[in-house]
Amino acid sequence: MTVKSLPEGLHPDTLAVRAAVDKSQYGENSEALYLTSSFVQPDAATAARRFAMEEEGYTYTRVSNPTVSSMELRLAALEGTEAAMATATGMSAILLLGMGLLKTGDHVVCSQSVFGSTIRLFAGEFSKFGISTTFVSQTDVRQWQAAIRPNTKLLFAETPTNPLTDICDIQALADLAHNAGAVLAVDNCFCSPALQQPKRFGADFIIHSGTKYLDGQGRVMAGAICCSQRDRDDVFMPITRTAGMVLSPFNAWVVLKGMETLSIRMQAQSERALALARWLECHPAVKHVYYPGLTSHPQHALAMRQQSASGKGVGAPVLSFDVHGDTPEVLRRNAFAAIDAVRVCSITTNLGDTKTTICHPASTSHGRMTEEQRQAAGIGQGLIRVAVGLEHIDDLKTDLALGLDTLP
Ligand SMILES: *Cc1c(COP(=O)(O)O)cnc(C)c1O
Repeated sequence: MTVKSLPEGLHPDTLAVRAAVDKSQYGENSEALYLTSSFVQPDAATAARRFAMEEEGYTYTRVSNPTVSSMELRLAALEGTEAAMATATGMSAILLLGMGLLKTGDHVVCSQSVFGSTIRLFAGEFSKFGISTTFVSQTDVRQWQAAIRPNTKLLFAETPTNPLTDICDIQALADLAHNAGAVLAVDNCFCSPALQQPKRFGADFIIHSGTKYLDGQGRVMAGAICCSQRDRDDVFMPITRTAGMVLSPFNAWVVLKGMETLSIRMQAQSERALALARWLECHPAVKHVYYPGLTSHPQHALAMRQQSASGKGVGAPVLSFDVHGDTPEVLRRNAFAAIDAVRVCSITTNLGDTKTTICHPASTSHGRMTEEQRQAAGIGQGLIRVAVGLEHIDDLKTDLALGLDTLP
């Protein structure tokens, strides 16, 4: 692979449209899509050297592919890491992280508020192989500290959380991990590198679901681990080459092009989210709004410091709010009424799209928890999550008012 040579010190906005492998001999301006499973070798001896990894060169797309390389280079440039390893989905990136860093007898400390499938991966799948996980509070660093054991190898966090937008202190967790001889991985799906670069705060590995804001238009599945070049080449690539959870070139190309507009989308969607959060805070049918951009958010100051990759702190495009009600039944009825009245927003649990989505976490993404677990997590029947897209803010307010204005 020949990396396109660029001047030193370029800004992320420039790297987002320029970082890639070199152009082909045809000089295409938009990066080419190399939709091929294998690569023709000039001769048998070269093929032998390339398969032995003694010489650079593409052989087979399960090992590497120029379009996937471009996506990895661009994402790594945005996160400020040396390298990235692309995977088929966000979940397979976390699977790859565990396969690369952990073995039987190891221990993980993980926030109890991370993505539901991440909890199932650590608590269910990894535990089958003798890897144990302790789940702790998202915000209480002392709980993380208390959970660390001599065999703790990995701390895993996600910030802000879904759906309540709790923020964890990346720097504090990185310090804890490093003092314990462990490493910190941060799932940066909600902020993306346009708003937050966990590496700046000491994170060792950054996880992405490219399915969300990196693509940004709800089209493909993708994932990645951002890391050092050595970890990519010596720890993760040998596993994907063998186990095959690689990103398809087509999906890599979609995400590669999506990243060109990442920064302006994140800014525009975050601005709309803040405006909507402020409007909801004043609506009489709304009991509470969860959004880090609001001064009422308990970790507002930390969020503004940590989510400031764009130069100013912003709140990311996801917010949640509670409607009023005395009993779980009434809360649920009111939340459903607010959701069902919308005519513009999409009723779906996905996020990271230019189309605004609205959902009821207690009966969807968090529906498999018991009512007790949900209440402990603060996810009540009256909670509604909105992942704000690019529609005009006035249309979004009008849409949400359709249901909210009818509530007590
Ligand atoms: C969606 C999501 C994932 C999983 O990504 P997939 O691409 O769906 O596998 C992981 N973490 C977070 C925070 C997510 O929102």
